[in-house]
Amino acid sequence: MKSNLVTYDRLVSYYYHKAKRENAIYIYNNRSLNDNREIDMLYKLVAKELAKEDPDDAIVLPVLSFQLISKCNLKCKNCAFYSPYLKNEIYHTYDQFVEMTNKALTIVDQVQIFGLCGGEVLLHKELAKMIEFLLKQPKIRNISIVSNGTIIPNEDILKQMRGAKRCYLQISGENHHRSKLNEIKELCNKNDVAYVVYNDREWRDFSDLSNRNFSEEQLEKGFKRCDYACFELFNNKIYYCCFAAINDYLNKLKVDESECLNLEEETSVLREKLKNILNMKYISSCRFCENIADNFKKVIPYEQL
Ligand code: SF4
Ligand code: SF4
Repeated sequence: MKSNLVTYDRLVSYYYHKAKRENAIYIYNNRSLNDNREIDMLYKLVAKELAKEDPDDAIVLPVLSFQLISKCNLKCKNCAFYSPYLKNEIYHTYDQFVEMTNKALTIVDQVQIFGLCGGEVLLHKELAKMIEFLLKQPKIRNISIVSNGTIIPNEDILKQMRGAKRCYLQISGENHHRSKLNEIKELCNKNDVAYVVYNDREWRDFSDLSNRNFSEEQLEKGFKRCDYACFELFNNKIYYCCFAAINDYLNKLKVDESECLNLEEETSVLREKLKNILNMKYISSCRFCENIADNFKKVIPYEQL
């Protein structure tokens, strides 16, 4: 019997086919910055599907995030980046950032959203310079500065973002850190700085890194709907997702060379490898990831240690 339920998969499939029909991989650019988290998730899911096939052989990444820094002013017990637990701080300097980003941009034809993530990126001393650099890159369409909404952007950062509609502050934690939020919104409005504030969605518990023995069907289905998969530039590599990146870095779950890009390799080799990765049905890290579970375990967002 045919079900009329509007499931997640059906919704994604609908927008995927619509976007394909209209040749509209750029759907995200038409959004209003006040769209909510669900639209962002949907965008990533649709764009991920579209990124797999391109008649002109172009590689258009929906999202490429740079994990700049591990330092954070908050100490969230369930931080997926393990920020409060790291013994050695992770910090990419401006020069490292430029070198890695330049190399990444030789591999792809376009990046729809280039994200700067942490940790808390507003604590990075060279952030303004990085934004200035990104705004000059023709292959990057939008730039998202991801912040937990508890730090006021300084004047150097505001100066770079002022009037640059394609570069916006992405603030999460709306329901948890209201103290600074209104001040940040006012400042952004006053300075013509674009921002988007997300309501908190649930956080998932990524602490169990054992092999979950998911079936092939579960892995493929879970991977398809995973909106955490958005390519991560980190430690001179590009990973499929943040979960794979940080756990590989900490030697908790090793990522095979075939599933990440080592930026020291030749551009042509990396480009072919990226195409293969884009068409994978899932990556090995998914076997250990809570995101695949049908009823994933939830934890309290922003619970402090
Ligand atoms: S705000 Fe919390 S979850 Fe985000 S990086 Fe900082 S400690 Fe981690
Ligand atoms: S390991 Fe797989 S399911 Fe988990 S975040 Fe990465 S791509 Fe998504």
